[in-house]
Amino acid sequence: MNVKTNLEQIEATITEACTRSNREKHSVSIIAVTKYVSVATTMEAIEAGIIHIGENRDEGLIAKKKEVGSKATWHFIGSLQTRKVKNIVNEVDYIHSLDRLSLAEEIQKRANKKMKCFVQVNTSGEESKHGMEPSQLLNFIKSLSDYPLIEVVGLMTMAPYTEDENVIRECFRSLRKLRQDVQALNLSFAPCKELSMGMSNDYEIAIEEGATFIRLGTSLVGKEF
Ligand SMILES: *Cc1c(COP(=O)(O)O)cnc(C)c1O
Repeated sequence: MNVKTNLEQIEATITEACTRSNREKHSVSIIAVTKYVSVATTMEAIEAGIIHIGENRDEGLIAKKKEVGSKATWHFIGSLQTRKVKNIVNEVDYIHSLDRLSLAEEIQKRANKKMKCFVQVNTSGEESKHGMEPSQLLNFIKSLSDYPLIEVVGLMTMAPYTEDENVIRECFRSLRKLRQDVQALNLSFAPCKELSMGMSNDYEIAIEEGATFIRLGTSLVGKEF
């Protein structure tokens, strides 16, 4: 695995997807998901020019941050247990998995500054997926006014693993529509400009549907464990 070579190929693919969908290349940011790789490979990604690092476990995040430090912007992706909040909330720049009020409450309690959060939405309807029901999203976001340290910077979703491109596209498209609904609420604590969607197998579709952050693990840094 050569991260630099992978990144060059991915950037070319991003450029093509942006051209197809009439978007600026710079409107898409890559988060390197390093949960399956070592600190050394994470450093390789940083040296190749990666700025955003994503981790889904507190231990992994702390280990990598110790080495990489403030050279990167840190993202917590994937489901977040309430009892883990205290370990990560003041270590990361973004949390991508806000999906319940109990989590908002804990973030509010533990954070020592305003926290940039994505609300995770279950756009696929799969039981196994985390995230909130689309029908509950607007009420959920309104109730976040009780937690002044939470800023809703955007929405996040995961599409199902399927060969059916239309199913994937529909998930991403519905997230973009939901963003419009949130923006129409005009809430100062929920500017909701970003869409965190697209992984190694579906990021081209996500970009065509408006992703501003794509989360790439295997295709960019590989899988070592
Ligand atoms: C692991 C993970 C990714 C990256 O997955 P790849 O398919 O390896 O790119 C993206 N988002 C979340 C939430 C993840 O847990």
